[in-house]
Amino acid sequence: MSGQIRTPYFLVDEKRLIQNLELLKKVEEEGPCRILLAQKAFSMFSVYPLIRKYLVGSTASGLYEARLGKEEFGGETHVFSPAYREDEFEELLTYADHLVFNSPSQLRKYSPRARALGKETGLRINPECSTQEGHAIYDPCAPGSRLGTTLEQFEEELLPLLDGLHFHTLCEQDSDDLETTAEVFEKKFGKYLYQMKWVNFGGGHHITRKDYDVERLLRIVRHFHETYGVTVYLEPGEAVVLNAGYLVTSVLETLYNGMDLAILDTSAACHMPDVLEMPYRPPLKNSGEPGEKSYTYRLGGPTCLAGDVIGDYSFDMPLKEGDRLVFEDMALYTMVKTNTFNGMPLPSIALRHVDGSKEVIRSFGYEDFKKRLS
Ligand SMILES: *Cc1c(COP(=O)(O)O)cnc(C)c1O
Repeated sequence: MSGQIRTPYFLVDEKRLIQNLELLKKVEEEGPCRILLAQKAFSMFSVYPLIRKYLVGSTASGLYEARLGKEEFGGETHVFSPAYREDEFEELLTYADHLVFNSPSQLRKYSPRARALGKETGLRINPECSTQEGHAIYDPCAPGSRLGTTLEQFEEELLPLLDGLHFHTLCEQDSDDLETTAEVFEKKFGKYLYQMKWVNFGGGHHITRKDYDVERLLRIVRHFHETYGVTVYLEPGEAVVLNAGYLVTSVLETLYNGMDLAILDTSAACHMPDVLEMPYRPPLKNSGEPGEKSYTYRLGGPTCLAGDVIGDYSFDMPLKEGDRLVFEDMALYTMVKTNTFNGMPLPSIALRHVDGSKEVIRSFGYEDFKKRLS
């Protein structure tokens, strides 16, 4: 690699990715269970062949992700959508082999066509068991949720249309919350599992986080597998690439307005929208909390949005134009969410190979901005 890669760019670290995948593989083998990549969190398809060595397939939220999974990932292609579209369904059936429906009416409408082609069909359950505080927009069990079928909405006449049941209620959670949810799910729907081929525990399992309780997860998986004779599926997104990617950026300018400010060549609004949506302050290499190190700066993007602020960080040395700053844990829910608001360029996508060499897989230009408009 000669010279430095132009910033901003996402850098996925193959070695870190493989560490995550090895743990997930262990869970698959020891469960036993089958693990799918949730493409919603991470769709960098150039590394799908690597991930495919460890995971059995991918899951999608609609036609495009299903097609990407079928074409680039291989293995099992699962799809869940809150509402399928009539004008896409025939094509979707050419990609997906497991389809999960959100409601009894969607199941009745679409599942006979899927089953006629030998596809497996399931229903997403809302176990009505909230286990997360803080992030209400990520709680599908909140009152008024449109996601999943409650016990009250469920009908036993649906059983002949079903190969499996699915729930997805967690977000960045440990296996104690899965246990709480699984117990409620089992109390309400366990009796139907004897007739099912599989149960899918969704995503939101922070399996590759250092302090995640993997043994408890394995106990829950084993319990369902042994009690009901079902195949257990997990479909994590975040956990696959947790701490396996960076966003490398440069300082464009520093200024002062009652406090030190720096403008970077990356934007929270365009390149890491979860920073504003969730919101959260992303980890930044070699930095401290505000005031912890000698020089504290508020870091912001080069867009005209006043709120395009990444956060306040402190450094050992004053920042200057051209300094490189490396945001951490930037593989998940970033590349899949970028946009070109304000004419912002999209960050390049690069890979650090196991041998340490860096490869730019893709870079973007003016045409990518223009193509989305008319
Ligand atoms: C978002 C989502 C996932 C993946 O969630 P993570 O939090 O990234 O693990 C899995 N399944 C469904 C149905 C989802 O909506």
